[in-house]
Amino acid sequence: MSSGKILDHVLEPPSYGWADAKGNLIKPTPKQILREFLSRTNVFKNRKNWLSFMSWFQIVCLTPFFFIFLFKYITIPLFIVGFVYSMILMGSHGTIWYHRYCTHKAYKFSNNFWRFITQHLVIKVVPEETYAVSHHVHHAKSDQPGDPYNAQAGFLYCFLADTNHQPINRNLSREDYAKAVSLLGHTGVKTNSYEQYQKWGSIVHPVTFITEWILNWGFWYGVFFLIGGNALACTIFGAAMFWAVGVRTFNYEGHGKGEDKRKDGVDYNRLDMSINQIWPGFVAGEWHNNHHMYPRSAQSGFLKHQIDFAWYYVKFLSMIGGVSSYNNAKKQFLEQYYIPKKLKTRATATTEAEANAAVEEEVM
Ligand SMILES: [Zn+2]
Ligand SMILES: [Zn+2]
Repeated sequence: MSSGKILDHVLEPPSYGWADAKGNLIKPTPKQILREFLSRTNVFKNRKNWLSFMSWFQIVCLTPFFFIFLFKYITIPLFIVGFVYSMILMGSHGTIWYHRYCTHKAYKFSNNFWRFITQHLVIKVVPEETYAVSHHVHHAKSDQPGDPYNAQAGFLYCFLADTNHQPINRNLSREDYAKAVSLLGHTGVKTNSYEQYQKWGSIVHPVTFITEWILNWGFWYGVFFLIGGNALACTIFGAAMFWAVGVRTFNYEGHGKGEDKRKDGVDYNRLDMSINQIWPGFVAGEWHNNHHMYPRSAQSGFLKHQIDFAWYYVKFLSMIGGVSSYNNAKKQFLEQYYIPKKLKTRATATTEAEANAAVEEEVM
């Protein structure tokens, strides 16, 4: 991991703590989790709660669009548009930008223009620091105490993680704050000085955040309005609400809902509880078990059926000159895991056809 020990304390611990004295995961009750959520979004109690408050306030702002769509504009074509925007566009954008770029640096942009375009490719509802800093911790402590969305602690623990477990620690030293900032160094996010951080408790400044928010939403509302009037704009903004809520369920499900759901021949990585799921894989390229095996790979769909729109975007940008380089672990995956396993199957196959099929299927 990039910054060594910083990941042990870069996140603000919840009031119920990560682990007990014996080092076992603390599983708070739903009541404790909700109380923490209310306390962490209360901006009147503490100004430093502003970013957590904003994340949920944005969902509140999107909700009217969703209901206007539902009661005024809904048609089958608009429903399809909203569905595709929410699941595929916003889903893949989450993978392209927050996950593979901001956190894992799986690829490099040729210039800041393409970085900016990629950042703002869709309606923005997730702050970079909330996603990326905590996601480094997730990889360092997957399914262990301290994992901000540890699936073993339950659905609510993961669903409300962005307020309860993902914000950065409010008591970082000047040196450690600099390390936290450096995790976002390549993203172009305008960051607070240490003094500003001490005041606001965040890496991004509220003025920067709100300005960017208004420009991003204003731009996209304008574009959709020009294409299809309020009907289209409300559909897509409503769809954004749907995604913003839905994405908060991913981490719980992507690690087996707290159970061991890993399957032979599907989930090759056995170091944590992550699993490859068809739906997040198809719509967003989140083949999460593959990803935990090769976190820095710009491609996670390694097999033929593992569609990966996020990778197609990176590949496309690299073809038109927007991306200058990328990591790709597909070859390694096939050589180290997939082919050896298939060769073993071939050795025990009863017919020649079965043997050949075992190796050839799935490998492109
Ligand atoms: Zn994971
Ligand atoms: Zn990751």
